[in-house]
Amino acid sequence: MNLPAKLKMTLLNILVVEDEDAIREMLVMVLEQANLSVMAVASAEQAQHLLADKKQPDLILLDWMLPGISGVEFAMRLKKDDFFKTIPIILLTARGEEEDKVRGLEIGADDYVTKPFSPKELIARIKAVLRRSGKNIEDEVLTAHNITLDLGKHRISIANKNITVSPTEFKLLHFFMTHKDKVYSRSQLLDQVWGRSAYIEERTVDVHIRRLRKILKQHQSDELIQTVRGFGYRFSEVE
Ligand code: CA
Repeated sequence: MNLPAKLKMTLLNILVVEDEDAIREMLVMVLEQANLSVMAVASAEQAQHLLADKKQPDLILLDWMLPGISGVEFAMRLKKDDFFKTIPIILLTARGEEEDKVRGLEIGADDYVTKPFSPKELIARIKAVLRRSGKNIEDEVLTAHNITLDLGKHRISIANKNITVSPTEFKLLHFFMTHKDKVYSRSQLLDQVWGRSAYIEERTVDVHIRRLRKILKQHQSDELIQTVRGFGYRFSEVE
């Protein structure tokens, strides 16, 4: 499927923590232009709140010098937390000293970008870190049964035929293909696929599941999406 540029799915989510408004806004713009989805906050405290009730970001872009809890302190806390330690962190700082760089990496940051930086450099670093952590911006290709989902090309094919789905169905199928064999309730799917900030009724999930199944049924693949009575849905290649 070919989506117009505006509808392109932004499936990887970056959390930006930067207290300077101008820089934060610039970062949001640069990241969105690179087809990344962005959550942006001005302090580590705000980031903590966000992490507590939203889905995990795929990467955190963290300013070193923040009011309150500093970027370094926050990175250390995250890296000590079993739930958050796997989220890659790139520290952002005006400090260019070798000593600081070493310290940043020592506390578990995955990379380090010194201000001022070019958008191109920043995106390249982000891509490199995401790639190292097994997440790929451009060339992620997922398969299940006879379905292939190409994230970079925003294309789904079933039995080697390209098919067209809506952005929501694309996102839903992507979620299922990256979370096989586990059961998800409607509210979990809403959080993960639509995001918790979206106020959507749970039955919306059923509507989109039905549409997705209809498409899959045309290619004898609808049994991949299984209803688990009383709980929700599971995507599995095993019946
Ligand atoms: Ca700062």
